[in-house]
Amino acid sequence: MVAIIGRPNVGKSSLFNRILSRRHAIVSEVSGTTRDRLIASASWNGRQFLLIDTGGLEDDPDGHIPQRVQQQADMAMGAADVIIFLTDAVQGLTATDQAVAQRLRRTDKPVMLAVNKVDNENRELAAAEFFQLGISETSFISAYHNYGVYDLLERMVDLLPTRELVEQWDDDYPDGVLRLSIVGRTNVGKSLLTNAILGEERSIVSPEAGTTRDALDTPITYRDHTITLVDTAGIRRPGQVQRGIEKYSVLRAVNAVHRSDITLLITDATELATAQDAHIAGLAWDTNRGLIVVVNKWDLVNPNRFRTERSLHRVHQRLHFMPYVPVSFTSALTGEGINELLDTALSLWMERQRRVPFRDLQYLLADAVSTHAPPSRRGNLRNRLRVRRVRQVGVNPPTFVFSVNDPKLLHFSYERYLENQIRERFGFHRTHLRLVFRAER
Ligand code: GDP
Repeated sequence: MVAIIGRPNVGKSSLFNRILSRRHAIVSEVSGTTRDRLIASASWNGRQFLLIDTGGLEDDPDGHIPQRVQQQADMAMGAADVIIFLTDAVQGLTATDQAVAQRLRRTDKPVMLAVNKVDNENRELAAAEFFQLGISETSFISAYHNYGVYDLLERMVDLLPTRELVEQWDDDYPDGVLRLSIVGRTNVGKSLLTNAILGEERSIVSPEAGTTRDALDTPITYRDHTITLVDTAGIRRPGQVQRGIEKYSVLRAVNAVHRSDITLLITDATELATAQDAHIAGLAWDTNRGLIVVVNKWDLVNPNRFRTERSLHRVHQRLHFMPYVPVSFTSALTGEGINELLDTALSLWMERQRRVPFRDLQYLLADAVSTHAPPSRRGNLRNRLRVRRVRQVGVNPPTFVFSVNDPKLLHFSYERYLENQIRERFGFHRTHLRLVFRAER
């Protein structure tokens, strides 16, 4: 996770967009919201990372700027693996920059100082004053003119921790515990819902059982399964709505999504899903986490015949890039729908853990290819995709590797066809599936 922090107007969004432009990193094709994206997954030199534009996330016109930037720095120090601290050569070194640099000294995470708007030699001279911040990774860039961004990226991926390689099939958490994160905007009912889930009848597993990774998490048992609610410390106390909470919550949410298997995205039934909801949903989706959209405060919606359909329609409209996402309706206040929500989470979890026998997959492939052969390009048979074999190589999400003669011959619609065949035959109705096409060796 890479966070870009800095004062307003230093060019955080320009840098974010520049890094994500096609000419640079490879950006995930499933994107939540194409405009105003604040979180995106991308890869560079085969290293995958999440890029976060904290400025855009935490925009608050009334906020006290120095304090706001400090909060960003604190959150980045907690959640990010690499911090890109952006400053502005035209404005020069400001007191806020100095305070942020001071603060960043506390972290042992890699910090890169990027001095932006260095568009000509004079400015480069001016930029020299930034060396006094004493950050060894200092570079001069122009996000707008695309100067120095390539080098910045190159060095940035070297600083990423090595634990997450793009092709790491092993299950991240092999202990069989379902990790649930609860995210959403302020006031949608996260605290109340968390407390409802933690309700008395679900005995709390003691931390000694070795199920917690973090003191912030709370394990429960539900229908003989252990479910760990991730980062409950951040949301447990209800009514703790104060200024500043919202700013904290987004990076925190990003971190929670990252540490969980399934994310519950809580929305308010009386409001439309917002862009921020779409960002978090897109994040969960892009990083292959499971996702359930929870429409809370269901008790406030007048019961009528069409209320469920209407609400489902709105969710799917907003989150159109996720056609398979399950939607649950709850009232944290009355407890309605809480068990159904946990049941949905468990069944999604089971679906994400399902392993399909090798043989069944080969039968499926043979059927699929004979029913609908891959089209050949311009009728030239030598340019026809051949799919020889398929193996499941991972779960959570179920991941399938197809051995083909040449992955470049694969057309998107044929990939979609194969995916749908797997979904129908083996009952994957609500999870993300990951399909990989590799040249046969
Ligand atoms: P958070 O900021 O997302 O943690 O939201 P809270 O849990 O603090 O809830 C915000 C407000 O919404 C509080 O006044 C809650 O009592 C209320 N609330 C939460 N869930 C529900 C619900 O399902 N129905 C109703 N009517 N009110 C709710």
